[in-house]
Amino acid sequence: MSSGSAGNCIYIETGDQAILIDAGLSERKMSHRLRAIGVDPGRLQAIFLTHEHSDHISGVGPISRKYKIPVYSTQGTYRKIEKQCGNLTEWKSIVAEDSLCLGDLTVEPYSTPHDAEESVAFVVRSNGYKLGHATDLGCVTPLVKEKLQGADALLVESNHDLTMLDAGPYPWPLKQRIKSNTGHLSNEACADLLGAVGHSGLQWVVLMHLSQKCNLPELAKMTASEELKPFPAKLILARQDEATPLVPLY
Ligand SMILES: [Zn+2]
Ligand SMILES: [Zn+2]
Repeated sequence: MSSGSAGNCIYIETGDQAILIDAGLSERKMSHRLRAIGVDPGRLQAIFLTHEHSDHISGVGPISRKYKIPVYSTQGTYRKIEKQCGNLTEWKSIVAEDSLCLGDLTVEPYSTPHDAEESVAFVVRSNGYKLGHATDLGCVTPLVKEKLQGADALLVESNHDLTMLDAGPYPWPLKQRIKSNTGHLSNEACADLLGAVGHSGLQWVVLMHLSQKCNLPELAKMTASEELKPFPAKLILARQDEATPLVPLY
């Protein structure tokens, strides 16, 4: 729905389910943007969290309470957010590699290399379709490639351009953090990943979590599209300041 360094929230719906991955915008913004894409927030049945950084959880308490939505996260994430997000309607523990079924939806968390307590990303399956998600990871591990193989749609982090990061305004330690193996994926690393997992059945690629200071949408798109040339996938960028249109799988 919306993504970038200033807040992340992904909406996924199937025949009978509607879920969020992350809730890193205010409740008002998330509700407003859901309505903007024709979704009543009251329909949401679950919120899955990737990790405790505020751009992923800042609105989770309020939206969970307002619409009585259960929240699913790893124990490590929950320990970190427990105090700041207040009472959640219900919290359910998830474990990397343990799939979970909600109606016609299967959600499979897997571990990501990120500077957070117990971070995960997700593979989501429904009716024979597979969606591969990978945001907030400092490097592409063999596990990430394995999880994203054969997906119909990929939601992948394209955080920064290396040259812009080096020349950018951040203090040196923060630059090192972003570039580290537990930081964020550069446009180049994202493109490599897309080249490795792309295939003839790939329908959509959505570039996620773009830095507002160290990236340009055109640059991210250009770098990714080079690697996607052999594949039929349509490439779009998740928007930060408004709702990204829904991406249909068929
Ligand atoms: Zn993070
Ligand atoms: Zn993030």
